[in-house]
Amino acid sequence: MIVACLDLEGVLVPEIWINVAERTGIDALRRTTRDEPDYSVLMRQRLAILDEHGLGIAEIQQVIGTMQPLPGAAEFLDWLRERYQLVILSDTFYQFAAPLMRQLSFPTLFCHNLEVNEQGRIVNFHLRLEDQKRKAVEAFHGLNLKVIAAGDSYNDTSMLLEAEAGILFSPPDNVIEEFPQLPVTRDYQQLRDAFLKAEELCR
Ligand SMILES: [Mg+2]
Repeated sequence: MIVACLDLEGVLVPEIWINVAERTGIDALRRTTRDEPDYSVLMRQRLAILDEHGLGIAEIQQVIGTMQPLPGAAEFLDWLRERYQLVILSDTFYQFAAPLMRQLSFPTLFCHNLEVNEQGRIVNFHLRLEDQKRKAVEAFHGLNLKVIAAGDSYNDTSMLLEAEAGILFSPPDNVIEEFPQLPVTRDYQQLRDAFLKAEELCR
């Protein structure tokens, strides 16, 4: 049995924080894991910026509620589900992901939690587990499952390297250069082909 482990942002849905930056006009929120590989450093910066501008969970959820999955993402997931067990491994938060998960028929999602106070201010974030994407793959291996993983960014690379086969999807150039051993795909048709090819590595 093969588990397909997919990143969320940049693979199935747009980058949430970039959309929040565009709609709020706060450029400093455009930084992602593509720019700052240390996710905890990045999140502390983001929460400080939200505080400075007086933005709480309601405003952010309003923005996310207007977003849609990337074109073709839902159909790609349907294709995957027919062939593999599907798990989304994301470094986003359940509170942010919900409106987008609804549009993707609520696939299994392992991510993190935000701590919100009674006034709706996001006061903290709780990473369920450090390096959770790689550890999930490791745990699946412990259950005698094979894993094909796909992601677009730095925070996916340990997961991609741990899996039987790791695939990059629309990655930035610096990730391609740093991880030349990972195949690169640019659209869902190429990603489908890469999954079928990766099955050979799982035999
Ligand atoms: Mg991503």
